Amino acid sequence: MKIDFSRLPTPCYIVDERLLVQNLERLKAVQDRTGCSILLAQKGFSMYSVYPLIGKYLRGVTSSSLFEARLGYEEMGGEVHIYAPAYIEEEFDEILKYSDHIVFNSFNEWRKYKAKVKNMRSKKIECGLRINPEYSEIETPLYDPCYNNSRLGVTLRNFKADELDGLDGLHFHTMCEQNSDTLLRTIKIVDEKFGGYIKNMKWLNFGGGHHITRPDYDIETLVRSISYFQDKYGVRVYLEPGEAVALNTGFLAAKVLDIVENGMKIAILDASAACHMPDVLEMPYRPNIIDAGKPGENEYTYRLGSHTCLAGDVIGDYSFRQPLKPGDRLIFCDMAHYTMVKNNTFNGIKLPAIALYNEEKGIRIIKSFGYEDFKSRL
Ligand SMILES: *Cc1c(COP(=O)(O)O)cnc(C)c1O
Repeated sequence: MKIDFSRLPTPCYIVDERLLVQNLERLKAVQDRTGCSILLAQKGFSMYSVYPLIGKYLRGVTSSSLFEARLGYEEMGGEVHIYAPAYIEEEFDEILKYSDHIVFNSFNEWRKYKAKVKNMRSKKIECGLRINPEYSEIETPLYDPCYNNSRLGVTLRNFKADELDGLDGLHFHTMCEQNSDTLLRTIKIVDEKFGGYIKNMKWLNFGGGHHITRPDYDIETLVRSISYFQDKYGVRVYLEPGEAVALNTGFLAAKVLDIVENGMKIAILDASAACHMPDVLEMPYRPNIIDAGKPGENEYTYRLGSHTCLAGDVIGDYSFRQPLKPGDRLIFCDMAHYTMVKNNTFNGIKLPAIALYNEEKGIRIIKSFGYEDFKSRL
């Protein structure tokens, strides 16, 4: 069954559960083949109405903050991991309550919180340290944890071999939307630099950025990379993809409000790059639209812009087989990850509704937003 997008309000995100399940099955196959554990990185996708579904396939969540840890704890119920570049002291007791693994970014942080974690009576929390192997293959500094003077992770130079007592694992995160050939080159460096320490650990966390659910992703090399560390050092391996969980599972429905002309035709939409898909401007990237092509590919080319007042709030130039007119709907693809979690109400623009589709129940609107959501944050 095709989703009848004309039944959605606009703007509205919709996640297709069937596509999500396809991704989850692919991820679970990696767990089943290797014995590794895969966690959802909530930073990329926190649509908790599907957490019970995700929890059937993955082992739990990873979090970048107290709030994410709490959400994962309350809504999924698997393992809760957390890493942050620094923890907020007043929040730490609550973090202890929700977390199973806590990863620290520096030896200062580890020293500061070690006693608190180790004195927990009610449960045993495993501790890890994020390392910075100073190797990555990311072109955009904004997304490169190994960029010059990065604050993320301890470099070999700053590693303190005499302060490892009580640490259960090491964590590295150096990838972004990459295939397993990058992982293979990365783990060689990690092994060369930190192998001597990994052998005394219980686990090694490979972070996120693994594009496992992309059609051309090479699963065999991933499996070999996981097995390499597991066999060599007897460690458990964790992966914590965000994007790969929700990749290509969601859409954003938008409506054309007006067409203006200034050297070319420009369509003004009720969706915004700045508010609803900020990675289009940050990354930057060009989302696909159903039944639209590159400029000039079809007969009618338009620039698509938003109804905010930000001059650069432009999604891109696209061509269509029919002229656009006010009221027409455009369906943007791959809009589940790094969208809802990054939304904002800049310009007083309405947040998109959030919907879910499955065969059994059809379209369900999970959330709609209004004036109070704008006002309550200001
Ligand atoms: C962002 C992040 C992830 C998830 O990355 P994706 O690119 O969404 O797979 C995992 N771990 C850490 C530490 C992160 O910062």
